[in-house]
Amino acid sequence: MTIPLVDLAAQHAAVADEVAEGWAAVLARTAFVGGPQVAEFEAEYARFAGVDHCVGVGNGTDAIELALRALGIGPGDECVLPANTFIATAEAVARTGATPVLVDCDPDTLLIDVEAAAAAVTTRTRAVLPVDLYGQAAPVEQLRVLLPANVAVVEDAAQSQGATRHGAVCGSLGDIAATSFYPGKNLGAYGDAGAVTTARADLAERVRLLGAHGSPRKYEHPVLGFNSRLDTLQAVVLSAKLRRLDGWNAARRAAAERYTALLSDVPGVVTPVVADGNVPVWHLYVVRVADRDTVLGKLHAAGIGAGIHYPTPVHLTGAFAGLCYGRGDFPVSERAAGEILSLPLFPEITVEQQERVVAELADAVRA
Ligand SMILES: *Cc1c(COP(=O)(O)O)cnc(C)c1O
Repeated sequence: MTIPLVDLAAQHAAVADEVAEGWAAVLARTAFVGGPQVAEFEAEYARFAGVDHCVGVGNGTDAIELALRALGIGPGDECVLPANTFIATAEAVARTGATPVLVDCDPDTLLIDVEAAAAAVTTRTRAVLPVDLYGQAAPVEQLRVLLPANVAVVEDAAQSQGATRHGAVCGSLGDIAATSFYPGKNLGAYGDAGAVTTARADLAERVRLLGAHGSPRKYEHPVLGFNSRLDTLQAVVLSAKLRRLDGWNAARRAAAERYTALLSDVPGVVTPVVADGNVPVWHLYVVRVADRDTVLGKLHAAGIGAGIHYPTPVHLTGAFAGLCYGRGDFPVSERAAGEILSLPLFPEITVEQQERVVAELADAVRA
């Protein structure tokens, strides 16, 4: 019996009829980009994220890039972000022409170190990108008070759909936020998709313009844009799934609490730390163990689909070698990269599956 890291089959079964019906309507009209389904999903997701504006885009990386470009960020500017994140956060900054400036993370939560971020600000800094890693909010309000007023906070909310911090929903914590609907995310499409959320009408309008060939009206192109839009077929899937997301997130939360209880008497496994004020949505349940690669090998051999998010901090990737950081620059992130282990977690995971994961993990760590 194998236990996958993520199992999307049950989610599909829950929405299959609704998706088939919605897709049939789209196919009948043969309008595949834009349309009422996209506008409806954008309105629903804005409400969900507690903001006035949501713009659907092609994927989460584009969403970050468009948010930065909407703020006017480009060559010569600097953007501060954590070394401990998925590479897309840094890619999006680099694609605007701005320079990614990396900082370390908090040793307990592994979220951006807000003091380090504030200390990295220079006269060229235009934005800081806190990442709601593993499904819990970054301490955005703590960061905000340490930043000059002219530095924007661009929240990377790709992993935190529905999570809250002091009651505020992720996607609404900064000046503008980006999220991803990659299939494995808490709210997953059936292909690539993403969105930008913001309370600011001017930024939302700019994102929409830039993502649609810089075109406010057909064949008018006052600015240079590109093509990054949410497909109609994906909007149908996302609307169907959004209606169930609170329930799925609650199931993830229950499963995460169960892991933490089951692991409480397993020596050698450090369970995730939730920051004060946070209600996470557990995109990933990340424990820390010594000799991680050996433990992971044993879990894989036992059919447990554990993973590593992420094995290489951004500054040690070949893609960002040009930033000229080196080993030792971000010791907390580097140490975490060698210890972290993501356990299988999805809304439908059973108690038996979790008990088996914990038993195999306990064996692997003991050996
Ligand atoms: C998934 C993810 C992204 C990028 O999303 P894509 O839709 O894959 O482009 C960005 N940041 C983080 C933290 C992510 O997990």
